[in-house]
Amino acid sequence: MSESNEADLVQMVVDEDTCIGGGVCEMLEAETFLLDDDTVIATVIGTGRLPLARAEILVDRCPGRAISFTDIEPAGEGVGESK
Ligand code: SF4
Repeated sequence: MSESNEADLVQMVVDEDTCIGGGVCEMLEAETFLLDDDTVIATVIGTGRLPLARAEILVDRCPGRAISFTDIEPAGEGVGESK
């Protein structure tokens, strides 16, 4: 059914200068965001990849407007000369 799973993934980004803490992102996606106990700033962990629809929810729920996402770069370097 969801044959385009991989294509729907985006790369999450946290602007650490804008993050106000609180950890909403960590509560929603504990495998993608980690709130540092000392700095109280969130960082992206693991692959940092989420489905687009989920990413949009995270952006919407972040009270500091610190979360954004980008397209995922194609992994293959030297794509043109694969052997
Ligand atoms: S939800 Fe936003 S403001 Fe809150 S900790 Fe996560 S990135 Fe920071």
